[in-house]
Amino acid sequence: MGGRGVDNYAPTSEFISHVEIIMAKQKMGSLDRCVIHTHPIELIMLSHHPEYAHDEMMYTQMCWQMIPEVRAFVPRGIGIVPYCMPGSQKLAKGTTEKLMQYDVAIWEKHGAVATGKDALEAFDYIDVANKGAKLFLGCLASGFIPEGVSGADLLDLKQTFNL
Ligand SMILES: [Zn+2]
Repeated sequence: MGGRGVDNYAPTSEFISHVEIIMAKQKMGSLDRCVIHTHPIELIMLSHHPEYAHDEMMYTQMCWQMIPEVRAFVPRGIGIVPYCMPGSQKLAKGTTEKLMQYDVAIWEKHGAVATGKDALEAFDYIDVANKGAKLFLGCLASGFIPEGVSGADLLDLKQTFNL
């Protein structure tokens, strides 16, 4: 929570994880200097789904196939950190590991984390990924299982945009 001058102003309870993530990113030569943690409703909802919550490949695929934008702008996909105590060392370690490989780390039944050169870039990864989850859940809520962009078309996107 931000807000200098506010009485209860304090660093985020996820401060440890944020520092560890940036240090790990720097070690691998990344220019990322910003970590964002948010509570995007649809990504969290999908992290409650019994079939998707425990399979990051399925989770990523579902978000990718709902709209080409997600495939293009979240190219490394979405990793899932199994539920654990907010602010814990376990959560920090799990998140750092996921963000070495994926653009977005989902905290199961809690939220999302991403890094970027600045806050806008980090936020964009989460915001675009959330669009995929929102579209999928919207289709389910409308009573149908979405067809999704085909595997061949997703592959075409990957090759065309060199993802
Ligand atoms: Zn949180």
